[in-house]
Amino acid sequence: MTAKVIDGKAIAEQIRTEVTNEVSKRATAGLPRPGLATVLVGDNPGSQSYVRSKQKACKEAGIESFGHELPADVSQKELEGLVVSLSADPRVNGILVQLPLPAGLDEEGVLNAVALNKDVDGFHPVNIGRLAQKGREPLFIPCTPAGVMYMLNQELPSLEGVNAVVLGRSNIVGMPVALLLVRANATVTICHSRTKNLADVVRQADVLVAAVGRAEMVRGSWIKPGAVVIDVGINRVEDASRPRGYRLVGDVAYDEAVQVAGAITPVPGGVGPMTIAMLLRNTLRAAEIAD
Ligand code: NDP
Repeated sequence: MTAKVIDGKAIAEQIRTEVTNEVSKRATAGLPRPGLATVLVGDNPGSQSYVRSKQKACKEAGIESFGHELPADVSQKELEGLVVSLSADPRVNGILVQLPLPAGLDEEGVLNAVALNKDVDGFHPVNIGRLAQKGREPLFIPCTPAGVMYMLNQELPSLEGVNAVVLGRSNIVGMPVALLLVRANATVTICHSRTKNLADVVRQADVLVAAVGRAEMVRGSWIKPGAVVIDVGINRVEDASRPRGYRLVGDVAYDEAVQVAGAITPVPGGVGPMTIAMLLRNTLRAAEIAD
């Protein structure tokens, strides 16, 4: 039996429609349009393209976007100064500093300058700290991890007692996903580059979230039959048959895993679109907090 394919694109589309409808209801009620400020430092093509997609998505949802681009050699003071001024700007409800920042800039210092109630990326140290603490509620949850949880909850409305394995422990994906799974009462194992017998650990997973950035590393033989597999990885592999000369694959060998898993996200069309949908949702929420 082949796995159910979780259509992230369709789920994200539904969320974006909901956000668009809420934004237009606000306009009818005479409330201001939500506003998102994006801060892009340097000329990393990946970051440029992510920021462009986020701005386009805002426009489609009726959210105003304010783009700020700074050179890679901007000083820490100037960058923090911009973030402080956006934090004080009433037209701006959400601030997104595109990560990673170029070498030499202190990411934590910049994220600390984002007003807590505008932290739509959920990376402010206080929001992440609250995520890690029992009985505390972050104001915003990071967008990719929130997208992962949204898709998981649709497959498994209760994650209580479920064995979940997270591959990767990065600040932006692996660790917050693991914290969210713990909050949902799953039993969580976090794996990383020093984990021993990785395949055996993965075989225990009822829920597997892969965020390692290694093309098709997780083989079908690693997957527990019936497991729910969320593949966060986005990796380019050479493919001369494609006009661009490459194609995108996940961290999971999809063609193998789809034969074993109970449900699986494709790449592209899985987690990727959910990240943007969650950003729009967080920006709308930020506007509601500001009302
Ligand atoms: P990072 O490089 O920051 O983290 C990768 C993690 O994987 C690290 O914890 C690392 O371990 C672990 N790892 C690396 N190699 C191995 C290995 N061979 N075995 C076990 N663990 C390993 O990546 P990100 O978290 O930023 O991103 C992960 C993937 O998700 C990338 O493909 C990225 O493009 C994608 N991504 C997708 C998004 C989306 O919207 N869909 C958003 C963000 C990222 P250690 O800590 O020991 O170094």
